[in-house]
Amino acid sequence: KNSVTDGPELAEPYLRQVLGMAGLAVEYVRAEGNTLYRRGEGDEEIAVADFAGGYGSVLLGHNHPDLVACAQELLAAGTPVHAQFSRHPYANRLAAELNRIVGRELGTDEPYFAIFANSGAEAVEAALKHAELDRGLRIAALRSAAKDAAEAARDAVAQGRAQVPGRVRRRFGIDAGAPSTDALEQLTARLAAENAAHLDRPPLFLALEGGFHGKLGLSVQLTHNESYRTPFRALGAQARFVPPDRPEALKEIHARERGVLHVLEVSGDQVDVVEREFPVFCAFLVEPIQGEGGIRVLDAEFAGAIQRFCAEIDCPVVVDEIQSGMGRTGRLLASSRAGLRGDYYTLAKTLGGGLAKTSVMLVRRARYRQEFEIVHSSTFAKDSFSCTIALKVLELLEADGGAAYRRAEERGAALRTALEAVRDDFPDLVGDVRGQGLMLGLEFRDQGGSASESVRALAAGGLFGYFLAGHLLHAHRVRTFPTASAVNTLRFEPSVHVSDEEIGRLEAGLRDVCRLLREGAGDRLAGA
Ligand code: PMP
Repeated sequence: KNSVTDGPELAEPYLRQVLGMAGLAVEYVRAEGNTLYRRGEGDEEIAVADFAGGYGSVLLGHNHPDLVACAQELLAAGTPVHAQFSRHPYANRLAAELNRIVGRELGTDEPYFAIFANSGAEAVEAALKHAELDRGLRIAALRSAAKDAAEAARDAVAQGRAQVPGRVRRRFGIDAGAPSTDALEQLTARLAAENAAHLDRPPLFLALEGGFHGKLGLSVQLTHNESYRTPFRALGAQARFVPPDRPEALKEIHARERGVLHVLEVSGDQVDVVEREFPVFCAFLVEPIQGEGGIRVLDAEFAGAIQRFCAEIDCPVVVDEIQSGMGRTGRLLASSRAGLRGDYYTLAKTLGGGLAKTSVMLVRRARYRQEFEIVHSSTFAKDSFSCTIALKVLELLEADGGAAYRRAEERGAALRTALEAVRDDFPDLVGDVRGQGLMLGLEFRDQGGSASESVRALAAGGLFGYFLAGHLLHAHRVRTFPTASAVNTLRFEPSVHVSDEEIGRLEAGLRDVCRLLREGAGDRLAGA
């Protein structure tokens, strides 16, 4: 029921209709802690336990009083929110505090420079753009080193200090009898033609199957889900997707796609040709826990394989912590637990405390290109309002020796126990419980082969998890959603305020769903 609009509905009416089919097009009118209040039929407020948690943006709860007070103070004080191209001490403080925590978790002193943005996808885009700027500068350096080397070889040959040996002539099909000056000219022309084909190659990105990195022009190319990605294939650079269960695929992709430059080198009295790896691979994107891909924790062994592979081919690793980061797993960076070290990190969601829209991309000093600051910006990024709120978020996470991180772990463990109890009692319906801290998923087995026609119909429509979510909302006052690319997996990302009572209510709701599926009462699940 659309309770507010009388006029035409123009803000994504189709989406509302789809949500409506699963009973999910309700209106929330107030929010506090782990509770969302929805408007009931008689205009009354109905309290709903929020396990969707803004898909990860409200780890500290909706409208945290300290964050609301911070926002109110900023506005009451007439803080200039938009003052681009000026000093911005609040952004520097935020970058410093992020560095302090990241340094502690990674055990490193190397600073990370911070580029602020407005949304998760935008931080990913900034990281990819920075990596491409860096790749371009590295290619320019390779090009100029090759040119210097060619000139040095020409001088050496012209002065009779070096010659082009038979071995090199045979390898590149150069006239065996020609004088070295002519042979070098032919060789230089050959190498220039071969190298040209590589020097203009566009970047290739690497990402994991099941990965999700946003829906903007570039970031969507690295989001594996085909329905999001393929309509926009032509818009941006291309990616190759690596299956997380096959680390050997890394070497196969490298062998297929790599580029090699041939560069002249004078060694002793001979001109030689050496190979230099051409940087085709611009960046490797990885989520420490795939969120939209079904709450899948990156295997530590595979993380190590990625790290070694990228170090070998000098490809930067972008660790996308947009959903997993900001304390949800008991750390600021979920990846720090698996020992994964990123050249870049992206953070968003809870960074804005559920009030501000903000994100950040961090780049380690060894990779940083200050030129980026001149060519990348947004009207809204790095504003005082969101930076100050983000600083307050970090203060809340770090308070009392990191009590919030510990709380995320403890509440996560309690929630996990409840989900596992459901799985243990309904192993025929629940395939798996996965995740870390307050980022958990429960996967239902495919019901396509159910004996019940109504359950088979639910499974066939592509909205399976949405119907379950609709039932949980209406019958149990619990809000959860399936993950975007794996609709049989329900996600649970509540705030640290989630109570035992709410966890109990979720557990009872899931048991009810399982019983209905077992009884073949698909129509009752669909009839929310
Ligand atoms: N990366 C990851 C890992 C995400 O989970 C998301 C959002 N679900 C994004 C990027 C995109 O963030 P946003 O929706 O803020 O653009």
